[in-house]
Amino acid sequence: MVKVLGVDIGGTKVRMSVVDDAGAITLDEKLPTQFPLYPYLEEQVLRFLELDPEIEAIGIGTHGFVDPTQGKVIYATETLPGWTGTLVKEQLERATGKRVEVENDANAAALAEAKFGAAKGYSRTVCLTLGTGLGGGVIWDGNLLSGGKHGGAAELGHMILYPNGVLCTCGREGCSEQYVSGTALVRRIKEAGLQITPQELFTTASTNPEAQKVVDGFTKDLALVISSLQAAFDMDIVVIGGGVSESAEFWWDQLNRHLEPLLLNPVEVKVAQFENEAGILGAALLVLDENK
Ligand SMILES: [Zn+2]
Repeated sequence: MVKVLGVDIGGTKVRMSVVDDAGAITLDEKLPTQFPLYPYLEEQVLRFLELDPEIEAIGIGTHGFVDPTQGKVIYATETLPGWTGTLVKEQLERATGKRVEVENDANAAALAEAKFGAAKGYSRTVCLTLGTGLGGGVIWDGNLLSGGKHGGAAELGHMILYPNGVLCTCGREGCSEQYVSGTALVRRIKEAGLQITPQELFTTASTNPEAQKVVDGFTKDLALVISSLQAAFDMDIVVIGGGVSESAEFWWDQLNRHLEPLLLNPVEVKVAQFENEAGILGAALLVLDENK
């Protein structure tokens, strides 16, 4: 049995888990993100290596744009101050003597769904993670489409959906994540004059016409995003994950109604299998595959 350490780095917490090649999680800790981030990460990784000396390699999924070849963070927003430019792979390999791989967190989550989850058995998968933002991941013939000249491949949430639309964290206007994400839902609810949570929005939509209008706008925009992705990739399957997908039963039929006239060809759309586990399993998979 091969054991590796998966690390999932977000703005508020860092999750660290020992994962084996069957996808089972043994040691599992959620720590608050601390800055400066790199020294903190190194200290925690070394602590885990002492806890479990059988760990063979370290896979890291992080918020931000990543060059996976160099294992370098090309760009991270102020969510992770000081993280931009960090040579994570090089420094951590030197400190631990183990193999280290680094990827964008949404890409890592997509890998988990493709290998172990909802898209298992499909060769071409597009994953959309609807959380605070809209994360994307593309698996092409079993491999992650990643990197890119600026580390920004498969940043699907920054495809412009509405020119001159809502200002995005990337500084441009109208990106799809401003319409299709948890944050976008909160904005839509507020603009509709409703005082409810996104969860309440979905559960009350059948009896509240104002809520229904918001759900309709959201599902239509999600359908538009899927339709454009199909034109680019003609994928076998779309997997929808992230916090918003937990209420998918309430809006799934509506999404399918909007999708039908917008697709060039039929495509399977499924809810992600792993809710909170995708990030950590994907991070581990970065170093599990070639270890087998
Ligand atoms: Zn953007």
